[in-house]
Amino acid sequence: MLTTMTENELRKALIATALAMNAAGINRGKSGNVSARWRDAAFDGFLITPTGLPYADTAAGDVVAMTLAGDARGPRLPSSEWRFHRDIYQSRTDVQAIVHAHPPFGTALACLGRGIPPFHYMVAAAGGKDIRCAPYATFGTQRLSDHAVAALADRKACLLANHGVIAVGASLAAALALAVEVETLAEMYWRALQIGDPVILSDAEMQVVLGKFEQYGQPPESKKAQP
Ligand SMILES: [Zn+2]
Repeated sequence: MLTTMTENELRKALIATALAMNAAGINRGKSGNVSARWRDAAFDGFLITPTGLPYADTAAGDVVAMTLAGDARGPRLPSSEWRFHRDIYQSRTDVQAIVHAHPPFGTALACLGRGIPPFHYMVAAAGGKDIRCAPYATFGTQRLSDHAVAALADRKACLLANHGVIAVGASLAAALALAVEVETLAEMYWRALQIGDPVILSDAEMQVVLGKFEQYGQPPESKKAQP
């Protein structure tokens, strides 16, 4: 999908995704950030939302292009979280887009240092039997990036302790949809915890669900992007 877009179209899609993230209720204000891998004959890196600019006031020219070495191009500074975006693209060839948000329920769980166990089969949408919570580290640091990459191993989403959520995908639309799904699961889990101990699905059952998702649940574009 992304390879058929021009750089300018991808910049606009990035802004539209950031606006959609807030409209969907998984992020508020300027927190959070969105990126998409961008490659052409002269460039190998990613495009990322700039720091400190409301999404409604962000134009295509404000989006920052960064190389995988971490060099930024353009008139704006990149999001302060560019390090984990860069490190995820470097370590995961399957990832074409990243959505980072501070959604209320996912972040509330993350503030308890709790990930999301398989209390519901849709947890498998994030690629595994659970959704991990990465340990806390200061925003913008290499340490936070290292924790995020580790928590995302064999997964497409994770929580960040005392911070927020990361969702990745084979397209901006897929990453955004997964971020919304993770927040839906976080809210269900939070609500279930209010009235008792949620029943946790077994490893064997989650293996069955993951197998079914592998067969039926993947959009064609994410299959194409597998290494
Ligand atoms: Zn953040």
